[in-house]
Amino acid sequence: MWFRRDLRLADNAALAAAAADGREVVPLFVVDPAFDRAGAARMAYMAAALDSLDESMQRALVYRHGDPVEVVGRFAAEVDAAAVYVAKDFGPYGRRRDAAVAERLRADGRSLVGVGSPYAVDPGTVLKGDGTPYAVFTPFSKMWRSTGWAAPSAAPQVTWHGAPTVPCDGPTTRPQLPFTLPPIGESAGLERWRRFRDGALDDYDDQRNLPGVDGTSRLSADLRWGIVHPRQLLAELDDSKSHTVFGSELGWREFYADVLFHRPNTSWENLNPKMETMPVDTDARARDRFAAWCAGVTGYPIVDAGMRELAETGWMHNRVRMIVASFLVKDLHLPWQWGARWFMQHLIDGDLASNNHGWQWTAGTGTDAAPYFRIFNPTAQSERFDPQGDYIRTWVRELASVASAVIHQPGLLRPDGYPAPIVDHAVERDEALARYKVVTATTR
Ligand code: FAD
Repeated sequence: MWFRRDLRLADNAALAAAAADGREVVPLFVVDPAFDRAGAARMAYMAAALDSLDESMQRALVYRHGDPVEVVGRFAAEVDAAAVYVAKDFGPYGRRRDAAVAERLRADGRSLVGVGSPYAVDPGTVLKGDGTPYAVFTPFSKMWRSTGWAAPSAAPQVTWHGAPTVPCDGPTTRPQLPFTLPPIGESAGLERWRRFRDGALDDYDDQRNLPGVDGTSRLSADLRWGIVHPRQLLAELDDSKSHTVFGSELGWREFYADVLFHRPNTSWENLNPKMETMPVDTDARARDRFAAWCAGVTGYPIVDAGMRELAETGWMHNRVRMIVASFLVKDLHLPWQWGARWFMQHLIDGDLASNNHGWQWTAGTGTDAAPYFRIFNPTAQSERFDPQGDYIRTWVRELASVASAVIHQPGLLRPDGYPAPIVDHAVERDEALARYKVVTATTR
């Protein structure tokens, strides 16, 4: 069993298939050089999840370092495995990698067997009546729900055949982070879910947009690494408003994976090709503005709070992700890819489909039906979703003693050390709309 984005034992269909009929299972994890592109936070989360998984299988997990095509082929021969079981990967890199691994194994008389995936419904499955994919979330979501999913299953009985007999070249090193991660592993992930389910879930619909309130599940990194499976969450939801909305958020994750499956080029290219003509800035001033955005010193408190939360925890609240993304694209006029790359390098839950399509949605280049001209006013967003300024005060410590009435736009009352706004939102809003006219003029 080659573990990838499925670092759990319960409700793991590929593991159950590998262990069927009492077969011995050799658990393998490949430390792929491609991981070098991921940031330290995501890698540290992964390393901790692997450590916990290894412990739950009596330290049987075997690590190998290198190109999976070589490593998996060689290792399967070493332990004389007839088959290598995996949860299917639907991302652009994973599909290419798995096709090459399958070919390599086939040449050796072995097989790669894909069972299940990190999704309740495999990407590529939910189609319109005419067999084409959905481009808009709401109809996708309806069909996704009606497709349905299996009930979650318990951890299978497994006879591990691992480290004691197979030489192992050591676990992954765990990157040092300037902050402490939450408890990580299958029990910790399920405990996080239970705490949320028995607490904030019933108020999710009212509170999920308030970054100053602990009102969301914080399960994104667990879902990212398959430490919990969405089926395990969906199975415990009822028909109430809050539960339905939470189920829809899981649906967004599946929708973006589906969009990326059908259009793998859209990980870094605009989904909407018309937006190619949109003028963006990439000069020295743009790079300075980008640096201010990254460092959380734009002078817009809600934007700075979000960027500092990201730097100090590896996570950011969804509403604030939308605000900082909109600011980068529509107030600073930078390419969305710059922001998406920064997020992928710093998020513990960095996921190509959710992240890059979340960015495209905000940038008006992706699946959003109400596109570019909807421009977030960062101050109005802040007043609406963080009315007392609690979230801002938590992360922008220079503003800790600023009154709620002025914290969203401190202006001349800003304390020493907090920067003046690097741009004027009203001016940049007009600039963004003028630039959008270039797109509409060239595509008319
Ligand atoms: P909850 O509100 O508890 O939601 C439960 C789960 O539903 C989440 O854990 C997540 O798996 C899924 N989900 C919720 N909202 C979304 C959404 N809008 N799109 C896709 N899935 C969603 N999510 C990631 O998992 N990885 C990313 O790299 C990522 N990058 C993003 C970038 C931008 C610009 C934006 C706007 C959103 C991004 N999201 C990403 C989606 C969302 O912000 C996070 O999933 C959410 O904030 C995680 O917190 P939570 O687990 O408490 O969410």
